[in-house]
Amino acid sequence: MSSLIVPCAHCASLNRIPADRLAQTPRCGRCKAPVLSARPFDLDTAHFASQIKGDLPLLVDVWASWCGPCRSFAPIFDKAAGELVGRCRLAKLDSEAQAGLAGQLGIRSIPSLILYRDGREVARQSGALPLPQLLSWLRQHGI
Ligand SMILES: [Zn+2]
Repeated sequence: MSSLIVPCAHCASLNRIPADRLAQTPRCGRCKAPVLSARPFDLDTAHFASQIKGDLPLLVDVWASWCGPCRSFAPIFDKAAGELVGRCRLAKLDSEAQAGLAGQLGIRSIPSLILYRDGREVARQSGALPLPQLLSWLRQHGI
């Protein structure tokens, strides 16, 4: 039976999860929180390198609290997280609280969306998208 390596949304520990258990709210072996979250989790600098690893892609929304378009995109991103559980993980990166990391990633405008797979950036989108366009953009990248 195939299994996937998935970083915990809460503590970033790598968990091995049988593919057929992804839909059953698997719990983290270390912190016991659900490994997969139906809501976007907050990404920080300390966990970044672990969170972009694993067999499920990670979509990062780079945002800031003062940014109007970011705030109106938030509910869309939340909804996408619910729809994509088990296929793609969604995280938010606060570009002010994690300014160093945002700088390293070369963020020039917000919101920015970055898709990671196998520890590498595979796609980037500047600006918010309506939900259908967001899902179709992800489909183009195999999600
Ligand atoms: Zn955990």
